[in-house]
Amino acid sequence: MSKSIDLTGKRFGRLVVIEKLNERKRNRVVWRCKCDCGNYKNVVSTDLTTGETRSCGCLKIDQNEVNLREEYENKRVKGIAKHLFKDKEPRKDSSTGYRGVTKYYTRKSKELRYRAWITVKGHSYYKSGFKTPEEAYYNGRLELEKIYLPQQEDKEE
Ligand SMILES: [Zn+2]
Repeated sequence: MSKSIDLTGKRFGRLVVIEKLNERKRNRVVWRCKCDCGNYKNVVSTDLTTGETRSCGCLKIDQNEVNLREEYENKRVKGIAKHLFKDKEPRKDSSTGYRGVTKYYTRKSKELRYRAWITVKGHSYYKSGFKTPEEAYYNGRLELEKIYLPQQEDKEE
């Protein structure tokens, strides 16, 4: 004897309940539902009300696609990070002796200053106003790496 609420016409996620079926599962009423994607699925009432079932199964498939995409993005980002971290030591071949550090002169007083920069995925980020290239590298460039480069999980040495 199951006294269940009438779920006809109610929506649960992507499913809209069409009709009550005569069959019982786990001693509970089974409902015929139509999914937004057009598929039909028979769902036990408690699976609907608890949110256990919210689509014909297509929702999960979509979620898998999202996960795959994120995984791919992560890999791509890691690829960039690895490339940039190849030599952790500052290179001595740029004009300032430090990778990602350039010198410039302040507009008004024409004083020599150093600017740290980093380019990640086509975007450049700057930190200016350092008095020495060392400062620009350690307080600028390395800070920028911390902010804009994804954390490296596997160290490459
Ligand atoms: Zn569906």
